[in-house]
Amino acid sequence: MRGPFMLRPLQVDMSVPCRVGGVYGLGKDSRQVRFVGFADRNVREAIKSHWNEYEFFWFQPCLSARDAYLRVCQQYHKQMENGGLDVEEHPAAPAGVTEKCPVCGK
Ligand SMILES: [Zn+2]
Repeated sequence: MRGPFMLRPLQVDMSVPCRVGGVYGLGKDSRQVRFVGFADRNVREAIKSHWNEYEFFWFQPCLSARDAYLRVCQQYHKQMENGGLDVEEHPAAPAGVTEKCPVCGK
């Protein structure tokens, strides 16, 4: 993922393309991702919705909901092994994606 960037609405607008899906990470410091999420259509708005909860963000654009889901699963398992996440619940596949998690098969 690209980053870290400061999680401020203007910074998000400058760094993240408009109306693309993607995967993102959030952190209270610039070294450690503490939250991972994805958006199948608008990752910019998804990141901005957390602007008062975290200080930094990382992101990667994705071409499809399936691509975003597979990438968030990889990020989820990577960060769970690397210090843990604030939300420990496994990401759920979006509507229309039948693929299982490529890491754990759930
Ligand atoms: Zn998994």
